[in-house]
Amino acid sequence: MGDDLWYKEGLRFGCLRCGGCCSGFSGTVRVTDDEIGAIARRLNLPEAEFRNSYTRSVGGGVISLTEKENKDCVFFDKDEGCTVYTDRPRQCRTWPFWRSNIDSPERWQRGAGRCPGMDKGMLHSADLVEETSENDGSSGSIS
Ligand code: SF4
Ligand code: SF4
Repeated sequence: MGDDLWYKEGLRFGCLRCGGCCSGFSGTVRVTDDEIGAIARRLNLPEAEFRNSYTRSVGGGVISLTEKENKDCVFFDKDEGCTVYTDRPRQCRTWPFWRSNIDSPERWQRGAGRCPGMDKGMLHSADLVEETSENDGSSGSIS
């Protein structure tokens, strides 16, 4: 870790559970085969049926969860939040410490413009931020 790392003092984040990252805009919620298996089991669905009903290919071998007509994630409920929370994909767990967000202070601030939990809450060390971003599960961008 270099001395000139812009987030060498760590980054603050505390989710406010506003649902902003799960609703209201179109985006990719990347899911791996293992994650698909876990959510399918949770819903008591055969994996093939789950794939047909809840996932879509977004190219390059990437599979995403689908969206509702209003662009909310298919598993977002405005009262409950994420209805598959303990089995949510890695991409959802690692936000906001995605490589695409920590690339520069400008990118981080852009993310903070839509996520009110960024720059607030618990301080996360630069080592943890770096480690998380190395396997962020994302396909690059929130939208
Ligand atoms: S937008 Fe940020 S604060 Fe709101 S639910 Fe998502 S991660 Fe939490
Ligand atoms: S799976 Fe859950 S945490 Fe991830 S985008 Fe959908 S509702 Fe949000």
